[in-house]
Amino acid sequence: MRIILLGPPGAGKGTQAQSISNKYNIPQISTGDIFRKNIAGGTELGILAKSYMDKGLLVPDNVTIDLVKNRLKEDDTHNGFLLDGFPRTIHQAEVLEALLKEQSVAIDVALQIEVPREFIIQRMTGRRVCPNCGASYHLEFNPPMLRGICDDCGSHLIQREDDKRETVVERLEIYDFQTAPLIAYYTEKGKLKTVDGTKAINEVFEDIIRILGEANDHH
Ligand code: ADP
Ligand code: AMP
Repeated sequence: MRIILLGPPGAGKGTQAQSISNKYNIPQISTGDIFRKNIAGGTELGILAKSYMDKGLLVPDNVTIDLVKNRLKEDDTHNGFLLDGFPRTIHQAEVLEALLKEQSVAIDVALQIEVPREFIIQRMTGRRVCPNCGASYHLEFNPPMLRGICDDCGSHLIQREDDKRETVVERLEIYDFQTAPLIAYYTEKGKLKTVDGTKAINEVFEDIIRILGEANDHH
């Protein structure tokens, strides 16, 4: 299956993406994670991406699109993939569609995780992430077994630079202007499915599995 995850920052895309990727055995492609890996590695791409990310802005389309184009050329994507955090603009969505068309394939589902604004700030300010494997935790809603330590790989958890309150507000504005129009875009294409993201993490996952199962049956 070829799946896109949509939703505002803090909706739970990364959290669900890991479980979906394991269940369907498809790679999770998170542009945010790729940028953060590059920042940690001090690459040229990382330095460029950081200058936008720290301000809560989107990394320019040409840079992001090149990155995804290259990632989708890798063999592990042939049986499907899960895009988490891409596309984030209409232009990115259009390029992705054209790219897949060249390979005679298409997105199966654009899955929107719907979470009202009042939940989001609390989710993002309480988020702690693993700089090594990208796993996402929450101080209150999804704490690791050992305080400050990743359950999966044992690394020390950190707070993301862009999860500070001021940056969160900026990111939500950018989402409304640049990314939210994708909901109408995928609705028109008949690809949009929506899940209620306010439930507990495992309940959201169960709902997602049901929705993806139904979408798969129709093919
Ligand atoms: P995104 O990738 O969409 O930005 P994350 O998956 O990192 O969002 O989730 C944001 C924060 O909210 C994390 O701290 C995560 O642990 C927490 N979270 C995710 N899903 C839920 C949920 N259903 N209920 C409560 N907290 C959640
Ligand atoms: P995320 O981890 O998905 O919350 O992304 C963190 C940051 O990385 C975003 O705020 C953007 O600055 C940048 N980013 C991630 N994905 C994209 C994208 N598809 N287009 C532009 N910028 C992106």
